[in-house]
Amino acid sequence: MSDCLFCKIINGEIPSTLIYEDEKVIAFKDISPQSPVHFLVIPKEHIESADFIDKNKVPLIGHIFYVASKIAKEQGLECGYRVVNNCGNHGGQTVNHIHFHVLGGRQMMWPPG
Ligand code: 5GP
Repeated sequence: MSDCLFCKIINGEIPSTLIYEDEKVIAFKDISPQSPVHFLVIPKEHIESADFIDKNKVPLIGHIFYVASKIAKEQGLECGYRVVNNCGNHGGQTVNHIHFHVLGGRQMMWPPG
């Protein structure tokens, strides 16, 4: 989508610190990290939010979790980490291209705000 921030990161129009890329997804560091390690895993295909995951997208979402855990290991998050997807207004989503935050390097708290 031409006016989507994350599509622009995918096609290189907006710079990012890329840490992983394959044919389906990319991962890059969050511009405003909320923990010592904070990166985003996103599909190259524009999907607006978790609300738009239809049945044929299920393998892609599984792949995102696989990639998230692979990168988490590479980033040294052996004590654990949190994967977050914010969906819609009440979920706190600010960029309307589905993305999964991976946060680690400190103790996470519960419940979230
Ligand atoms: P959301 O609030 O939608 O779940 O998360 C969007 C995330 O994208 C935020 O954590 C925000 O810091 C990050 N973000 C917003 N704009 C940019 C950008 O231009 N570059 C990068 N690397 N991250 C961004």
